[in-house]
Amino acid sequence: MAIEWQVLGQAGSDNALHVTVDSGQSRESLLFDCGEGCLRDLRTSAIQSVAHLFFSHFHMDHVSGFDTFFRHNYNKPDAPIQVWGPPGTIEVMWHRFRGFSWNLHAGQPGEWIVKELSGRQISTAGFFTREAFAAIHRRPEQPLDDPVIYRSGTWHMENRLLPHGSIPSAAYRLVEEPRMNIDAGKLRSLDIMPGPWLKELTDAGIPDTNTVDLNGRVWTFGELRRELLTSTPGESLAYLTDFRIEPGTEIWDDIAAWLTGTTTLVCECHYRQEDSSLAIQNSHMTADLVGRLAADAGVGRLVLHHFSKRYSLDERNALHDQAKLFFPGTELPPGWSNRG
Ligand SMILES: [Zn+2]
Ligand SMILES: [Zn+2]
Repeated sequence: MAIEWQVLGQAGSDNALHVTVDSGQSRESLLFDCGEGCLRDLRTSAIQSVAHLFFSHFHMDHVSGFDTFFRHNYNKPDAPIQVWGPPGTIEVMWHRFRGFSWNLHAGQPGEWIVKELSGRQISTAGFFTREAFAAIHRRPEQPLDDPVIYRSGTWHMENRLLPHGSIPSAAYRLVEEPRMNIDAGKLRSLDIMPGPWLKELTDAGIPDTNTVDLNGRVWTFGELRRELLTSTPGESLAYLTDFRIEPGTEIWDDIAAWLTGTTTLVCECHYRQEDSSLAIQNSHMTADLVGRLAADAGVGRLVLHHFSKRYSLDERNALHDQAKLFFPGTELPPGWSNRG
């Protein structure tokens, strides 16, 4: 299994993040935000294979590219597209869907499931292309008592809301479930013959109470799993953008604890340390703070994105150096630096 990622857009312009979770058996594509022009970096087939679109918030630089996404997917057959975001997402999306003339929609496929995250519950609404998106189909609200907002078979998504001036910005953490492997040495030591049941052992959908007869002894799957399976943690990736938190505060410690051990942290880095007053005024982070957050969380690597357009190439490289002072494993997306 692996998490592949690509920061979309250039340094100093709108950005987004495209992620593919490859489980070995299937590949699922996710998109985080949808700034102007960002989808030019993706092939049409990649845009059309996105199953979940996660918005941080709806400032223009994060949603201006949505029309392109919608144009490629409005009548997607087979599976609905799920759109996630902070409070207000259902209303914003409804207006986006309705912002066109619809007169050729009858009989068209296309279902959009929009989910609003408040930290305490998930509010859901469905929209259909065949209805020209006229009706909001409200679904029952789901209470939330942990950060997990969605579970696929092989990964799950967690969410936290971060302060961005007077509005929240949704942060996301994608976590692969632990990988289950057969311990070949243990299998030999038990002197039992491999068979099709081995593959079934690693399938979490098959209960522990199932049995298999091996050399005249009946084993339960539970017994065999305890004897033969080893577990290794999967990878994880967090996407944080447009927020301001201060070291030494409760929310800083909470977010650092939440991110602990994350393989890859993709984080906004809008301002240099010298421009701290601007960063506070606009509720963004500075390079030194982003580096400190990555260090406090002990992430595997930090990837910076969403630089202010005010900076030259040299200033962006300086901003990278500032984050590296606190967290040496800081990287820029490929192509954002000419320093090699
Ligand atoms: Zn922004
Ligand atoms: Zn913003």
